Amino acid sequence: MNQRLTVFFSCNITLFLVLLLISIGIRYPVLNRFALLEQSIMEQQLSRVAAGLTDELNRLDAKARSESTWNEMYNYIINRNPDFYSDNYSYAGLAPAFIDLFGILDQQGNPIHLDWLNNKKQQLETLTKQESNTLLNNQTLSWLHNTHGKTLSASRNLGFLMTQRGVLLLATRPILTSNGHGPSRGTIIVGRFLNTSVLEQFERYSNVKLSLLKATDNKVPQTLLTQQLNNKVDNKGNQLIFQSLPVVKVINHEFIAGYINLIDITGVRVQVLSVVAPRLGYLEGESVINKFTISLFIVGLLLGTAISLLLDNLIRNNQRIKQINQELTKLANIDGLTLIPNRRSFDNHFQQEWHRAIQAQHPLSLMLCDVDYFKAYNDTYGHQAGDECLRQLARVISCVTTDIDDLVARYGGEEFAVILPNKDISISMIVAENMLQSVQKLQLPHAKSSISPYVSLSIGLASIIPTPETEPATLIEQSDLALYTAKSQGRNQIVYFGNGCNGCNG
Ligand code: GH3
Ligand code: MG
Ligand code: MG
Repeated sequence: MNQRLTVFFSCNITLFLVLLLISIGIRYPVLNRFALLEQSIMEQQLSRVAAGLTDELNRLDAKARSESTWNEMYNYIINRNPDFYSDNYSYAGLAPAFIDLFGILDQQGNPIHLDWLNNKKQQLETLTKQESNTLLNNQTLSWLHNTHGKTLSASRNLGFLMTQRGVLLLATRPILTSNGHGPSRGTIIVGRFLNTSVLEQFERYSNVKLSLLKATDNKVPQTLLTQQLNNKVDNKGNQLIFQSLPVVKVINHEFIAGYINLIDITGVRVQVLSVVAPRLGYLEGESVINKFTISLFIVGLLLGTAISLLLDNLIRNNQRIKQINQELTKLANIDGLTLIPNRRSFDNHFQQEWHRAIQAQHPLSLMLCDVDYFKAYNDTYGHQAGDECLRQLARVISCVTTDIDDLVARYGGEEFAVILPNKDISISMIVAENMLQSVQKLQLPHAKSSISPYVSLSIGLASIIPTPETEPATLIEQSDLALYTAKSQGRNQIVYFGNGCNGCNG
């Protein structure tokens, strides 16, 4: 994979991981907030439905009150005028009040009249003896006579009652005079079935689906069933219609449900009212988060690409600068004519090897080579031929040394210097002889040389095991002196600066 792709992928993968962490870090807390929000909205919806049912009970209570606080009704319980009921109560008269049950009970709770409103036949239909007994069982009667500590005139009862025909919303009132005085002579009872038409009435005002479930229905959450039922009255003595808290449960990705217990007037859970609503707020929130995440990744990809291009450019520039620096360093250390290391390179290498020799206490040899009668060569063959001669000499001299630490450099005009680390005088002598021979083998004609028909070298050689006290210049001076001696002794020869001899041995 090339560098541009590597930079592109590493930038984008790093950025992707960072953005992934950010989006996970944002997503779940935000979605949790939405979930809490929709839960509280569902709780509000449940309370609205509960309030609606309470209103409906209050409406039934108003109907019971209007019939119960009336002198004629009060007297009827005593005189039992046979025409009273048929004159005042008919299907057509009761139906507009949207009720399903109407009844007049005596003081003991025995029915004087107890009728269903038959909507199909559009007539009143007296409850059978068995129906009447079931409806007005001991528990219902004790509920009817429970005044919750209030005065009789103010006492009323509201609640749900499970019957064979379904759940009834019930309201009862004591029968009093038109002025609301007692003692009560009986009870007016008004009921309405909590059927689909009542539930649809609530659904019309909210975007929810209402239904009644049996407590055994597997949709009903266990937490609702195991809930402790509250008191039947609040701390002001008011009767509580809903005696437990609602439970909210997410059904699936799209719907949420709330459940509330419907408690019978006898204290038994009759059914569970469920409210199902679409998770609009949550889904909207999720879609916003999804869009945000996608935008984040698109921006991230663009940013990653831009950063990778920028980085790639920087790396390339850096590499180019390094390359140029290397080339410059090479140029600064290479002799332009002969293409072997120059004087600068020689100085550095010499210093380096000098210190290494001090530390390792091994010999360091230095050879200075000078072309014999080179001025005459230039004069004879021209300056360009002189240049070519220098190039050839540099090539053969460089070939003689083999060790990686050896260095052959152009020391000056027609002078070459050879550094031979860790080689004593005897080995260095062999190298010098090889050098002299390889130059002779070149057989570059030199008509004006007094010593040879071909171009030749004079070599001064010195070797030393340096100590920290020894000056590096000493070795150069000794080699120079040896070279001078080689020249003065006739040229085309090697002279080494030996022990006890101040530079005079060939
Ligand atoms: P000796 O044997 O004593 O060394 O005599 P020599 O003539 O070689 O010595 P001298 O120092 O008098 O002359 C050196 C000559 O080398 C002089 C100069 O023109 C020539 N020279 C130095 N550098 C170059 C170069 O780069 N190219 C050419 N062609 N000639 C050079
Ligand atoms: Mg010279
Ligand atoms: Mg010379």
